[in-house]
Amino acid sequence: MNIESYIRVTPDFPKPGIIFRDFTPLLANGPAFGALIDQLKARYAENSIDVVVGVEARGFVLASALAYALGAGTVLVRKEGKLPHETHAQEYELEYGSSVLEISKDAFTEGQRILVVDDVLATGGTIGATLKLIQQNFSVSIEELLFLIELDDLSGREKLPDLPIHSVFHY
Ligand code: AMP
Repeated sequence: MNIESYIRVTPDFPKPGIIFRDFTPLLANGPAFGALIDQLKARYAENSIDVVVGVEARGFVLASALAYALGAGTVLVRKEGKLPHETHAQEYELEYGSSVLEISKDAFTEGQRILVVDDVLATGGTIGATLKLIQQNFSVSIEELLFLIELDDLSGREKLPDLPIHSVFHY
């Protein structure tokens, strides 16, 4: 099963110069999506993961499927104003302007072992803000940062704290 062949490349989306890596064809194919989750389940089988954290929105899909496979829970890191309970918030810079991510104040219990998942590691801004949200507000063990795709040219990983990072595919 060549999982990678289900990642569609769309040049100049959402704007000129961006090469968009779209994994929705992989999600739409049962055997390919299943093979991906099985592969990740095997990677973390011995880690006793309590919670898989997904970053809005495509990270949710990977996080929830992997959490189910591992017998873990899922926590959602959402854009501002979406979570109904009290939240912690973290602002971060975008190419133009800034944005805010939030997490529920009761997202974790102390000492939980977590994975943090997103579809793409590009500049690292999104995952960097997510890590601040978690590390500044909770006492949990981040076992690994997991991405389906890492865009090596953007060197996003160099801006992140010293944590294990695993990306399934590199471009
Ligand atoms: P960044 O904060 O720059 O690391 O960007 C990460 C977020 O933007 C991820 O959640 C991706 O969903 C999205 N993203 C950035 N660049 C791309 C790309 N070339 N193809 C697909 N998604 C991207």
